[in-house]
Amino acid sequence: MATLGPRVLRGVAASPGIAVGKVYILELEELHVKERTLSPGEIEPELARFKAALAATREDIQQVKDTIRQELGAEQAKVFDAHLQILDDVVAVEETVRVIREESKNAEFAYRRTLSRIAEEFDALEEEHFRSTAADVRDVKRRVIRHLLGKPRRSLGDITGQVVLVAHDLTPSEAAFLNPDTILGIATDSGGRTSHSAIMARARGIPAVVGLRNATLHVNQGDTLAVDGNRGMVEVHPDEKAVKDYAKRRRKFLRLEGALLHIRELPAVTPDGRQIELSANIEMPEEAEHALERGARGIGLFRTEFFYMRSARLPSEEEQYEAYRKVAELMHPYPVIIRTVDVGGDKFASYLGTERENNPFLGWRGIRFSLERREIFKIQLRAIFRAAVTGNVKLMFPMVSSLDELRQANGVCAEVREELRARRVPFGENFEVGIMAETPAAVFIADSLAREADFFSIGTNDLIQYTLAVDRGNEKIAHLYEPMHPAILRSIRTLVEMGHKHDIWVGVCGEMCGDPAGAVILLGLGLDEFSTSPYLLPEIKTIVRSVTYSEAKELAETALCLSTAADVRDFVEGKIASRFPQIALP
Ligand code: PEP
Ligand code: MG
Repeated sequence: MATLGPRVLRGVAASPGIAVGKVYILELEELHVKERTLSPGEIEPELARFKAALAATREDIQQVKDTIRQELGAEQAKVFDAHLQILDDVVAVEETVRVIREESKNAEFAYRRTLSRIAEEFDALEEEHFRSTAADVRDVKRRVIRHLLGKPRRSLGDITGQVVLVAHDLTPSEAAFLNPDTILGIATDSGGRTSHSAIMARARGIPAVVGLRNATLHVNQGDTLAVDGNRGMVEVHPDEKAVKDYAKRRRKFLRLEGALLHIRELPAVTPDGRQIELSANIEMPEEAEHALERGARGIGLFRTEFFYMRSARLPSEEEQYEAYRKVAELMHPYPVIIRTVDVGGDKFASYLGTERENNPFLGWRGIRFSLERREIFKIQLRAIFRAAVTGNVKLMFPMVSSLDELRQANGVCAEVREELRARRVPFGENFEVGIMAETPAAVFIADSLAREADFFSIGTNDLIQYTLAVDRGNEKIAHLYEPMHPAILRSIRTLVEMGHKHDIWVGVCGEMCGDPAGAVILLGLGLDEFSTSPYLLPEIKTIVRSVTYSEAKELAETALCLSTAADVRDFVEGKIASRFPQIALP
């Protein structure tokens, strides 16, 4: 990962590829609605006008839905069914009719007030699922009001030339019209990897970074913006050299994509024969297939928060079992490492009782939550144990900071085994149970943890945050978030040494192993497994296949003697450029 200067913003890698272009900011369209009081004679015509606008909107949505269904399939078209439902919602329609009739207000005012209120009600609910419903309600509201005002539909089709699209968010209707001929890349403030705009961008092959929080505040119309959809970063005003570097990266990405079918079949082995397990991180069960297509030989981190965040109720054992089983079966015989839920921190859900805390990352999260809410923990463990019958499943606990936590969690596993046995429910008996090594405490007690865990998977994202005391989401101090900091390298060395001393394998599932310089140094530090975004697998595999283990080891040993992050980075990058120019990244 390049050192993050003030011009670099981090978000979520939502669609792979690299693009540089002039910014086109898609402002949220202002539809000026005036409040008007109707005379008694105007009421019936106003109601007819409202009904006509609903009918015209229905036609619009149906048209978009048909286009998307033909192009991308029924699943992607579903969101427009939701829009049709919102449009036909009896409460919304009746309330608007009431306001027109009883308060003598004009239709656009009545409809805007009604739908805004509904959207706000959804906004007040904390789960992401409802927030996206609120966005859908606003999308429909704008469509109907546009018809009432006689305004033509705002369309991305109006964009001329080639641009990088920057928006707070894209509505499903807008996302449906993304055209790769004019839109080189996308950067949005909100959204996640599974948001509608991310899905559409992937389907159309447009690089995208979403969830940037305030990209729209940092860029202006016409600025140059680079979008790195592989690493989830954008750079505002890249200088001449950076633009050239992005162009090189883009060529490299396209070359690797072109050779993907070939690369994905090759083993992740160094020229001198050291084998690295190369796995993928996923958040949604559907991503597993994509991981396989890109050459993953396992799932190194299955984040399960998705189940808990997408709706306002607890996911059932069956629901989870089905998802885990599906992924385990698909990946078989490769392993699937399921991480028990890591809610808390920046992911909270009111129905779970997690609250906004003053120091959420130091708060009630990860294994701390699961050990306290054992009934929830056990449901998840039962689902995982049962899925282990059909696949090569492993289990790991997040945020472990004491041996006691590991023992307690293992104790709950023993209880779950007993309960399943008593109920004669089939479950996998022997599978590995490891921990995420992501707190400084875990580093200092690695020796004890390694005696009782079956593996360590190093979560560098959190390990860096906690070791360097740098909030991973705070842009102001993003330049201090430095994977090459000597404290990080030494921590990783300790974890590898202690793990290997007790004959357990040690992997990395944080983003550090998806960065070329990071991957080389981790290879040299003796890691056994890398797990990263599926998008980065071809590139990281190419690195593993190019760098000898003996040279990487030598490089890591020298790096460990250096005193500053900058020295380490200069040294590692210099070494890569001179020794392995074929993998050197600009
Ligand atoms: C990590 O901390 O490195 C990690 C992989 O977990 P997450 O990013 O989900 O906290
Ligand atoms: Mg973590």
